[in-house]
Amino acid sequence: MNKTVLITGSTSGIGLAIATRFAKEGYNIMFHGLEANGDAIAKDLGATHNVKVGFSKGNLLHSDAVEGLIAETIKTFGELHVLVNNAGIQFVSPIEDFPNETYENIIAINMNAVFYASKAAWKQMKQQQFGRIINISSVHGLRASEFKSAYVTAKHGVIGMTKVLALEGAPFNITCNAICPGYVKTPLVEGQIKDQAKAHKMTEAEVVEKVMLVKQAVKEFVPVEAIADMAVLLAKDSSTTITGTSFALDGGWSAQ
Ligand code: NAD
Repeated sequence: MNKTVLITGSTSGIGLAIATRFAKEGYNIMFHGLEANGDAIAKDLGATHNVKVGFSKGNLLHSDAVEGLIAETIKTFGELHVLVNNAGIQFVSPIEDFPNETYENIIAINMNAVFYASKAAWKQMKQQQFGRIINISSVHGLRASEFKSAYVTAKHGVIGMTKVLALEGAPFNITCNAICPGYVKTPLVEGQIKDQAKAHKMTEAEVVEKVMLVKQAVKEFVPVEAIADMAVLLAKDSSTTITGTSFALDGGWSAQ
């Protein structure tokens, strides 16, 4: 029997790479995201890898939409084995100019949705005596950078939540772990390069060299495939004792 995975924000960037990797492994995939071509992406990958797919575009800003996404997944597939809480947004600004509404949206999507989704999936995972919750945090869940007050707060929060869910899930074979990437070249980062250039008063090339990759020992963007490989490992049956941990895939940034 194929297992079922739901990946939030899987019609772009890191989430799409994770979904592609799980599809190659034969998982049924519930795709999710706000991209207009999300349904087409899901159907295409499903046909390529001969797996069952669904697609939902629930807005994770609202708890009822998060709960609806989990309910739709369970209704479509009759089960939910792996939940990858990946969707996220970013905004870069000095705190004195940081709009309150943007702060609240980042906390809602990047942190609160992780709580609502995990809570809604819990009963099903408990019944199955199998659950793998994988939270895409960030090196900014472990380290801070200036101008990212909302993002750093949310990503640190996700790591705290990961530890609690690991403890609560242990009796039911539900594990919870976080993956903490350094910089990955996705649409989210392309946007940040522009914002950072403004905040730091630099050119975009200078931002990549002097702001982004300066903190990584390995001066390369993290490949999406590395994150997808880690997610597949954490989802395995044999990974039952890997729980409550944060895996830094950050080119050595947090080694310093
Ligand atoms: P991305 O912009 O390519 O994709 C984000 C996905 O989230 C999209 O599918 C988008 O539709 C979805 N999304 C955003 N807001 C949403 C909302 N309100 N409701 C529903 N879906 C929503 O970004 P990415 O770089 O692939 O980032 C994925 C995750 O990885 C994020 O949590 C991000 O913080 C984290 N991350 C990214 C990097 C990086 O350098 N790109 C580094 C560390 C961590």
